[in-house]
Amino acid sequence: TFRGWLVEKTDAGGEQRQTATLRELDSARLTEGDTWIDVAASSINYKDAMALTGRPGIVRTWPLIAGIDVVGTVRSSESGRWSAGDRVLLNGAGLGESRDGGLAELARVDGASLVRVPGRFSPSQAAALGTAGFTAMLAVLAIERHGVRPGDGPVLVTGAAGGVGSITIALLAHLGFEVVASTGRVDTEGAYLRRLGASELLDRAELSEPGKPLQSQRWAAVADAVGSATLVNALAQTRYGGVVTACGLAQGADLPATVLPFILRGVTLAGVNSVDAPLTLREEAWSRLARDLDLALLDEMTEVFALTEASSIAENVLAGKVRGRSVIDVTA
Ligand code: NAP
Repeated sequence: TFRGWLVEKTDAGGEQRQTATLRELDSARLTEGDTWIDVAASSINYKDAMALTGRPGIVRTWPLIAGIDVVGTVRSSESGRWSAGDRVLLNGAGLGESRDGGLAELARVDGASLVRVPGRFSPSQAAALGTAGFTAMLAVLAIERHGVRPGDGPVLVTGAAGGVGSITIALLAHLGFEVVASTGRVDTEGAYLRRLGASELLDRAELSEPGKPLQSQRWAAVADAVGSATLVNALAQTRYGGVVTACGLAQGADLPATVLPFILRGVTLAGVNSVDAPLTLREEAWSRLARDLDLALLDEMTEVFALTEASSIAENVLAGKVRGRSVIDVTA
């Protein structure tokens, strides 16, 4: 048996409820997969926070082990790609949504989608990156592929003190971009965001209300994790030919925009999805994370907790009280 956070759906007097509890589980119950992993670490992403606190929309089959990230060591594999002892990781790919996830001591996944943990990272550091770091790197790759280079102008990062935002700032600053960080926590997290590499801070309230469809051209590129009016204003402030990446919906899933930034300024809106990324993109992003991330900054933005603490961290994440990344050391 092994311990894991199990999400269950219960019917209480005709009302459907979702609950998550840390349970002793039988390995025979794990969803199908050709590779068994002794889990070392996972993390609490926004999605995990929703699943652990019983919010709908993440877990799609019940009961299910939560956790969209897994880092660990292969116990055994029939995939042909992996041997016992290999250090591997996986982000998304249905973990914690449609198949048992990483907030447990044991995981069973398809070897075909696993990535080798770059030698530079400890298990805890690989989990600190996790889906947030992978997604941040996908956004940076999209900005680069669009042809935006350091020196082209400031790059705006929204949701700055969150997991995706923090890592995006550290990556862009390391690559030489001028980074402007938009946050609701200028007073308490301003110094932190500057240490990560932001050269200027913007109060997120300046972006969160509906604005004009075209505004002064400020950004060579934008990495948005917030959506809604913030993303619309970011589009309206992007310079001719610039790119805006969209990965999140911390403010909302709506997009009350006009086409003017696209047709009058040639702005591109680039979607970022980590869950279904193909293996080649996963490997590219992880090798770039190993190259382009300052490990001291990663450690600075990370707090490590025990498996038992996962649900209390989840409450804090949804309350917007957590900065950077929350790692779950599954062995603690
Ligand atoms: P997180 O750590 O909770 O950070 C979210 C940040 O968004 C918060 O720290 C806050 O930053 C900002 N925020 C929260 N509520 C807001 C509001 N009402 N208006 C404006 N800003 C607000 O979450 P995360 O893990 O970084 O994820 C960020 C978003 O990206 C989430 O929506 C998540 O679901 C999504 N995501 C998508 C993918 C993908 O594959 N597309 C992958 C990972 C994450 P400040 O305190 O600095 O203002």
